Amino acid sequence: MTMYEPWDALTAPRFTGPRTFARLPHTQDAANAAAAVFGMPWDGSTSFRSGARFGPEAVRSLSGMIRTYNPVQRVQVFGELSTIDYGDAPTAPGYVAETLERIETFIRPIVEAGAIPVGIGGDHSCTLAELRALARRHGPLGLVHLDSHTDLWDLYNGLPLAHGTLMRRGIEEGILDPARMFQAGMHGPLYGEADERIPADLGVETLPWDEICDWTPAEFARRARQRVGAGPTFLTFDVDFVDAAFAPGTGTPEVGGPTSHQALRLLRSLTDIDFVGFDVVEVAPQYDGPGQITALLAANVVFEFLSLIALRRR
Ligand code: MN
Ligand code: MN
Repeated sequence: MTMYEPWDALTAPRFTGPRTFARLPHTQDAANAAAAVFGMPWDGSTSFRSGARFGPEAVRSLSGMIRTYNPVQRVQVFGELSTIDYGDAPTAPGYVAETLERIETFIRPIVEAGAIPVGIGGDHSCTLAELRALARRHGPLGLVHLDSHTDLWDLYNGLPLAHGTLMRRGIEEGILDPARMFQAGMHGPLYGEADERIPADLGVETLPWDEICDWTPAEFARRARQRVGAGPTFLTFDVDFVDAAFAPGTGTPEVGGPTSHQALRLLRSLTDIDFVGFDVVEVAPQYDGPGQITALLAANVVFEFLSLIALRRR
């Protein structure tokens, strides 16, 4: 069986080679992969600044920094977990419904092969396509959703498909089980008090950042596990979850969120959950800070996803 891993950085320096995620092989041989990283270059559903169509490219570029061992989780990610860069999903600029169908079709072979899809967005509407592909195999999914927004609004500009509405669409389509949905980190202004009642009305557990900012990661993980239970679950990380000081390169930035370190600690705590898919979304490199800090953070978030997968498979 083929074991896919990155080129050895001690032989070929990390700034060399075509820009795949972490310099992994680009192949669509998902049968020999435990995890398949792929891009969703799409920003047609953004409500403020567009540009996330270039997110996958930026994250791949900065992912050259990623090494092979996670010393905090104590796991040899590459070497233990056969991982590929599956390429970019096709999109149709200007046509959101069609784009989501194309992304879903693109992902389906990964899911059918039994590999775990790890998406790089793209605005958050892309996640709906991943949830559809995964629910087809696993049934209704639980969700751990880290974001500064709930993405549970009904309509944007009077229309149903937007990056701020996809979680509600997922519930309506029966592919997300609201009783197993755990949202955390919400912060920033809302449209009114009524917005705060939306999660409860839909039966979703939503923990604003102000409520959980002093929790320990262990406490946080206990609550997440309690909510999502033992069933198949998706983990989605909207990069605007992190304070705009650490993640400015995004479409709808909010201030007063977690630092990158706080966010990584929460992420690392989420062991022992049956995650069947992951994504990091909303990286818009045009607004990124010096050193491309948002793309670098997102690359590390993907590495933490892969670490969780490797730990879970032990
Ligand atoms: Mn979002
Ligand atoms: Mn958001």
